[in-house]
Amino acid sequence: MRTLAVVGGGAIGLAIAWRAAESGWSVTLFDPAVGSGASWVAGGMLAPLSEGWPGEDRVLAFGAASLARWPEFAARLETATGVSVFVADETLTVALDTADAADLRTVAEWVGERGHDMRLLDRQGVRAAEPALARTVRAGLLAPAEPAIDNRRLLDGLRRACVDAGVETRAEKVDDLDALPFDQIVLAAGAASVLLRQELPVRPVKGEILRLRHRPGAAPAPRRVIRARVHGRPVYLIPRHDGIVVGATQYEAGFDTAVTVAGVRDLIADAEAVVPGIGEYELAEAIAGLRPCTPDNLPLIGRLTDRIVAATGNGRNGMLAVPLTVDATLGWLAGEPVAEALAADPQRFTTATRPAASPVGGVR
Ligand SMILES: Cc1cc2nc3c(=O)[nH]c(=O)nc-3n(C[C@H](O)[C@H](O)[C@H](O)COP(=O)(O)OP(=O)(O)OC[C@H]3O[C@@H](n4cnc5c(N)ncnc54)[C@H](O)[C@@H]3O)c2cc1C
Repeated sequence: MRTLAVVGGGAIGLAIAWRAAESGWSVTLFDPAVGSGASWVAGGMLAPLSEGWPGEDRVLAFGAASLARWPEFAARLETATGVSVFVADETLTVALDTADAADLRTVAEWVGERGHDMRLLDRQGVRAAEPALARTVRAGLLAPAEPAIDNRRLLDGLRRACVDAGVETRAEKVDDLDALPFDQIVLAAGAASVLLRQELPVRPVKGEILRLRHRPGAAPAPRRVIRARVHGRPVYLIPRHDGIVVGATQYEAGFDTAVTVAGVRDLIADAEAVVPGIGEYELAEAIAGLRPCTPDNLPLIGRLTDRIVAATGNGRNGMLAVPLTVDATLGWLAGEPVAEALAADPQRFTTATRPAASPVGGVR
C-alpha cells in the first residue's frame, strides 16, 4: 500500500486524509494541535456568488465548482459519521445606502450573466424575508443556492471519519517535509505552510470573529446568512443552532492571533446596525485566526515536487473550498489533475506570467 503523509490537520488536511485513506492510501496525519487553526475560528459561509465581483472570473469559477460539490461531500460525511454540517440554506446580502444598493445590482448582473441564480429584493422584500433586520436596510441580494455550515461540526465529523478510515494521527510538528519517509506528502498547514515551503506565496491575514449565544427573551436569529457593509467594513451574521456567529475583521498582522478591543467593538457595532436585536445575546466567545491568503485569491493546489503536493492558500474561502481541494489533491496524487482546479496550480507563480496581486476581497 502506498504511504501518504498529510501535514496539517485543519479542515483541508483532515478531509484529504479521510478521502485518501478511503481510496486506498496508508495515511499518517501530522499536527501538534489538530483542528486548532483557521478552520476552528471560521464562520462557515459557502458564498462564492455573493462575493463575486466583475473581473474575478477565475475565483468565481473555482468557488462555484466547490459549492456544487458540497451537497455530495456533506452527505458522504453524514453517512460515514452521522454528523450533519449545514446551518443555513441561503445567503442574503443587504444594502444600507445607495452605493451599496448599486453594488448589489452590479453583483447580481455579473454573476447572473455567468448562469447563477441571484435575486434582487426591495426594502419590503428584504424585511419580509428576515424580520429581524434593521429598518434602515434598503435593498438585498438573495443567493438561494448559498448555504452555510458549522465549521466546528465539520471538524468533529472529519476527525471521526479519519479514525474510522484508519488514518494514523501523530501530534507532531513537521519541520522538514523532505525528511518525511513517505511515498507522497500533502502540505496542508494553512497560513503556516509558508514556514515549511518559503517559495509559496501564502501569507497570514488575521480575522477576528464573535460567537453570540441566544438568551431567553432575545429575538430569534436570522434564518439566512446575512452579509452587509457598515462604514465601509464588511460584516456577516451566520446562524447556529444556539445563536449567531458575527464576523469578521480582516487585516495583516503577521502570525498574531490576539483579539483586539477595537475589533470586538467594531464587529458588535456593525452587526447591531444590521440586526439590532443582537444586543440581547450573550457574548460567548471572541477569537482570531489566520486566513492562508495568496496574491490572486486562488488557492495553491498542485505539485511542488515529485513527492510533495500543496493543498493550501484557501484564504477567506477555505470552508467553501474543502470538496474541490480534496478532489483536486487526490487527482494530483493519482496523476489525474482535476480540470476545474487547474487555475489553482502553484506553478502559475513560477512562470513568466505571474499574476498581479489583488486585494483580499470580501463584502463590497
Ligand atoms: C475569522 C475567519 C472567518 C472565516 N470565515 C470563513 C467562511 O465563512 N467561509 C470560508 O469558506 N472560509 C472562512 N475562513 C477561511 C477558512 O477558515 C480557512 O481558509 C481554512 O480554515 C483553511 O483551512 P486549512 O486546513 O488550510 O488551515 P487551518 O485550519 O489553519 O489548519 C492548518 C493546520 O496545520 C497545522 N500546522 C501548522 N504548521 C504545522 C507543522 N509545521 N506541522 C504540522 N502541522 C502544522 C496547524 O496546527 C493547523 O491545525 C475564515 C477564516 C477566518 C480566520
